[in-house]
Amino acid sequence: MTPGPERLTEGDLDDALWRLLSASDRDDPAAFAAEHDRAAEALDAATDPRWVAWRHALAARRALADGDPEAVAAGVAAARDALGRCLPCAQTALTLAYLAAVEVATDHVDAAMVLAIDAGLLAETAAADGPSRALHQAHLWLSLTLAALDLEELAVAQALQGSRVADELPGVPDRWRLLQLCAQQHAELAQALHRRGQGERARELAGTAVECAEAARALDWEAGPADQDLLDVVQAWAMAGRGEVEDALGPMRRAHKRVHRDGGTWLRGYADLVLARLLTRLAGNRSGGGHDAEATDLLVDAAGAFAAAGDRRRYRQCLLELGQGTAAMGRPAEALHWLEAYRADTGRAHARGRELWAEMFVRRSRLREAERQTAHLRRVALEDPLTGLGNRRSAERRLGGMRVGAEPVSLAVVDIDRFKAVNDDASHSHGDEVLRRVAELLREHSRTGDEVYRWAGDEFLVVLPTATEAQALAAVDRLRAAVAGADWGDLQLPEPVTVSIGVATAPAAADEPLGWRLLFDTADLHLFTAKRGGRNRVRAHGGRAGDDTP
Ligand code: GH3
Ligand code: MG
Repeated sequence: MTPGPERLTEGDLDDALWRLLSASDRDDPAAFAAEHDRAAEALDAATDPRWVAWRHALAARRALADGDPEAVAAGVAAARDALGRCLPCAQTALTLAYLAAVEVATDHVDAAMVLAIDAGLLAETAAADGPSRALHQAHLWLSLTLAALDLEELAVAQALQGSRVADELPGVPDRWRLLQLCAQQHAELAQALHRRGQGERARELAGTAVECAEAARALDWEAGPADQDLLDVVQAWAMAGRGEVEDALGPMRRAHKRVHRDGGTWLRGYADLVLARLLTRLAGNRSGGGHDAEATDLLVDAAGAFAAAGDRRRYRQCLLELGQGTAAMGRPAEALHWLEAYRADTGRAHARGRELWAEMFVRRSRLREAERQTAHLRRVALEDPLTGLGNRRSAERRLGGMRVGAEPVSLAVVDIDRFKAVNDDASHSHGDEVLRRVAELLREHSRTGDEVYRWAGDEFLVVLPTATEAQALAAVDRLRAAVAGADWGDLQLPEPVTVSIGVATAPAAADEPLGWRLLFDTADLHLFTAKRGGRNRVRAHGGRAGDDTP
């Protein structure tokens, strides 16, 4: 190995991973190999299962570029093994999706499909943890894999999901990349539907592809030349898909020329394929435009490029389109040649398709059932069965996760006035009904974002994130008034139902973080003051409300 660039430490691995990922889907094996060499030592030293998994996954990708299928298989197997010891999170989904992409590039359709399913399920679950770079990258790799598996609709859905995640993150280059991907996947799906005769939907999708490409251009980001060229090609193709074939030709020819001057093998193939399709459409629109011969040459070049770059799917597509094109030109012998090559290659790839779909369905529904069970148990553990509100356990969980003192937050403790009398003078089931209705009134009249829990007995807790004391006072006095103003006539109670409320607010920036228990106790203290003050009122440290109502 040349002494060249400096080695990385384990601490730099995160940054190195993003560079390796973006180099993985480029047309430049040398760039990937250089990054991989730089990271090798740190990857070898890492013992965390997440990095062990990446070490093997990246080694598999490297072996793919080196044309060593045995090393690819060994890398994928070792990576899967390490992933078994990783937490189910967005990072793990990303590694699985990346492995799926490696598998599909080696034409292991079934293995790729199974990995993609697992990655998709994990990404769905991980979405609950909020947006992250790992999550949108997981969607990106899933989208690329699904497209390679001829599942264009799913590829579009993944690209859109990834783009939505990227939109919530600050990284402009990531947003650009996901928009580029959305443009490409929409254009690909449009092409597939056009071929199947679904013209209208195809045009719509091509329109979305153009919009995505334009949105990418509107971002304040100068992508690398290869990415720009790919976007140009995709956009020209999408314009053609939208019906603007003549207008698309000029930009497409210019992009094609640039790509053939500077681009990598795969991108040259892609530009050839797109230009060929454009010319074919043009020939179809004009009667006998004389472009068919050029399109055939382009498709032959494209097939060669895709075979060299290991893109079996597009290689097959080129064979099919060559067969169809030459047949349309009245050259049946030539058409037969291409179509036979297509059939030979396709049979291999799709033989196990049916079995696989069945397996996939079973796995998926089994996992769904497990998810349903978990959700049910969670509900039982955290929900109050009488009112449907979160119970004390879920309230404590919420409060424990709050950064009290780091951000303003108010707590309100709500207690029904003289509730014992309802139980005693009417009945316990009247008492239950009052609890249910008070819960409903609190839920209905609390602000969006505020949360209501049943704390215990006739006591409720309202969490008001970001509310200052004055805002909290105003908000909870509306709750008090809603209960006092409700119609309780049908229950024929000795007294109308009212509540007393104590409020406590944590300052926005306390010197040291306050525990939520201290805040809760303070609110409870103010509740006591409200009760002593005559009930049906709100009390806080520096404010009061509801006194006008006796
Ligand atoms: P105060 O105005 O001082 O709050 O008087 P109070 O009568 O409301 O007194 P307290 O809050 O201590 O009373 C709570 C009562 O709530 C006691 C208990 O019997 C009753 N309770 C607790 N859980 C339930 C329930 O699930 N259903 C019914 N019907 N009653 C309950
Ligand atoms: Mg009470």
